[in-house]
Amino acid sequence: MAVPKRKTTPSRRGMRRSHDALTVAAFQECPNCGELRRPHNLCTACGHYNGREIVSVEA
Ligand SMILES: [Zn+2]
Repeated sequence: MAVPKRKTTPSRRGMRRSHDALTVAAFQECPNCGELRRPHNLCTACGHYNGREIVSVEA
């Protein structure tokens, strides 16, 4: 089994973890119904995208 030769220093550990942070998901208001939706994604509440209805949402 491969075993590390040296102890990872707090500095090295921090450098490794510098990319581990989670980002908050982006949301925009739907221009049609005002519901929050992900940018570049179909609105799940009303089925609209780019000013027109793509899928019909049943009641
Ligand atoms: Zn909508």
